[in-house]
Amino acid sequence: METVVIEACQGCGACLLTCPTHAIRPVGGKLHALGHLCNGCGECVEVCPVDAIRLVHPIEAESYRILRSTVDTARLQPLSRNVAERIIHTTADPAWRDDLVLDERALSQGAQALAEGAPLIVDVNMVAAGITRYPTICHIDNTPEPGLTRAATGFRRAARQYPTGAVWVVGNAPTALYELLRLSQTNAVTPALVIGLPVGFVGAAESKQALRETTLPQLSNVSARGGAAVAAAAVNALLYGDPLKEDR
Ligand code: SF4
Ligand code: SF4
Repeated sequence: METVVIEACQGCGACLLTCPTHAIRPVGGKLHALGHLCNGCGECVEVCPVDAIRLVHPIEAESYRILRSTVDTARLQPLSRNVAERIIHTTADPAWRDDLVLDERALSQGAQALAEGAPLIVDVNMVAAGITRYPTICHIDNTPEPGLTRAATGFRRAARQYPTGAVWVVGNAPTALYELLRLSQTNAVTPALVIGLPVGFVGAAESKQALRETTLPQLSNVSARGGAAVAAAAVNALLYGDPLKEDR
């Protein structure tokens, strides 16, 4: 049976009225779904106007329990833990915990921006494919400007449309991250959060080091590892929260 996780509730009451088993109850000023009453029908998810409810599949929940029994993430702050765990869950690679450079305040700023509907700009379509709960913006399909890659050109165009308050995600192209850094240095763009997780032996680690040398609110990792699935996992962690929330 799925677990129901409720976060970022805006209190409209629709799920309480809809739940056929009256499983959703206010507890301590927040809504909770009582596991022994929930039948997993998903009707609460359908009626919630702000996508605050998510059903967690039993396999995902079990995966997280195994993860927590093998990797110590308990000392990380909440959003940092959510991001680290979802990336480890996605890759089945515990080494990510020590590779990530996590900043709770920056992650909080990014999560808040997404909760308020900020533009979510990604460098390649593969990152967008991994994010199903939130609309993404990707301009990779544009004709590249002279001297720029298509991903960097896409970021340059997106910066003209969304100069302030967007969440920027790089899961593939170091060139896009370098272009974003250049744009921020000229005050052409002020991100709410930069998720810099490009991959590859050419420029990936260096571009992430360059990101860390700025004061931009950010998430990155030290090694050349990264990729679209990892970047999407980081965004999803900010959107979904903790799938074992009741276990903490
Ligand atoms: S999944 Fe169905 S039974 Fe469970 S809390 Fe939601 S509406 Fe109620
Ligand atoms: S439907 Fe969504 S916003 Fe409304 S009370 Fe339920 S969780 Fe909160």
